[in-house]
Amino acid sequence: MSVIRVGIVGVGKIARDQHIPAIAADPGLELVAIASRSRPEVGVPAFETLDEMLADGPPVDAIALCTPPQARRATALAALAAGKHVFLEKPPGSTVGEVGDLVALAAERGVTLFASWHSRFAAGVPTAKAFLADRTIHAIDIQWREDVRRWHPGQTWIWEAGGLGVFDPGINALSILTEIMPNEVFVTDARLDVPENVQSPIAAHMAMTDIAGTAITADFDFLQTGPQTWDITAVTDRGTLRLSSGGAQIEVDGQPVVQASDAEYPGLYKRFGDLIRAGQSEADIRPLALVADAFLVGRRERVEAFVE
Ligand code: NAP
Repeated sequence: MSVIRVGIVGVGKIARDQHIPAIAADPGLELVAIASRSRPEVGVPAFETLDEMLADGPPVDAIALCTPPQARRATALAALAAGKHVFLEKPPGSTVGEVGDLVALAAERGVTLFASWHSRFAAGVPTAKAFLADRTIHAIDIQWREDVRRWHPGQTWIWEAGGLGVFDPGINALSILTEIMPNEVFVTDARLDVPENVQSPIAAHMAMTDIAGTAITADFDFLQTGPQTWDITAVTDRGTLRLSSGGAQIEVDGQPVVQASDAEYPGLYKRFGDLIRAGQSEADIRPLALVADAFLVGRRERVEAFVE
């Protein structure tokens, strides 16, 4: 297949930081247009909406949706209906159900739907999965703590209904968890700390388990200043594994095993190209389902208003 021509919808932080450089670095892909209400200058024709891009822009084969989750379904439907392959940023939607609808439409149109989970492409994830595959896991603990003011400046959508709040980064940890665990994981309890002036949690605690009764806990926090923490620790019958820096580094019993720089988005776009060339789709909704279940069973605590 010749070079896949890509259009990006929603040019904000992640499109600029990761998607545009990753597409430029991939010889199998070419960015040919963008659609974003502010029509930023990124070196290709810019349109306000996907409809305008499809009507008046250069031919495109694939659309990468980098809008917030609340805005994703309508554009995904339009892109699939137009016969375009679609790359969904995480989370793949604002509800679990709407993703199934997109999977069905992609199959009907014979195009690729890729619901991406960038953290699964962190360097340490395959090693962690192999490590856990043949061990008895006693406990897993997730500590995912970051400074919302540093990583999400001005992103009001994150605080609105459907914006996920602290689960916006937290779902990255859950995407790794569901990838590396040998058994399916489910939620047993949750606490959501919701500032009194917004709709979404600023901190959360989750308790989970699996069929083996593994104790799995997760703490998500949006107010961590200083060093940032994106760690998963697994205590097993044969050693303790620590996945840190969002999955880029692994230690076993304190000894470094994997240390790599961030290569998540080049890996994501390679997978997208491979799926398109193979005529396949990939849409795993399990991380989103865990978040939805935390919202279902979680006790809400009203906490101090958040002011950016
Ligand atoms: P962002 O900086 O707010 O960018 C999103 C862009 O989408 C906005 O700049 C906006 O551009 C456009 N948009 C379209 N409809 C919108 C709406 N209803 N509300 C707000 N913006 C709208 O957000 P982001 O950080 O790039 O995140 C976008 C998605 O990528 C999220 O799902 C997030 O979870 C995911 N993601 C983010 C990161 C990260 O580190 N930031 C990392 C991985 C994944 P126009 O105003 O020009 O239309």
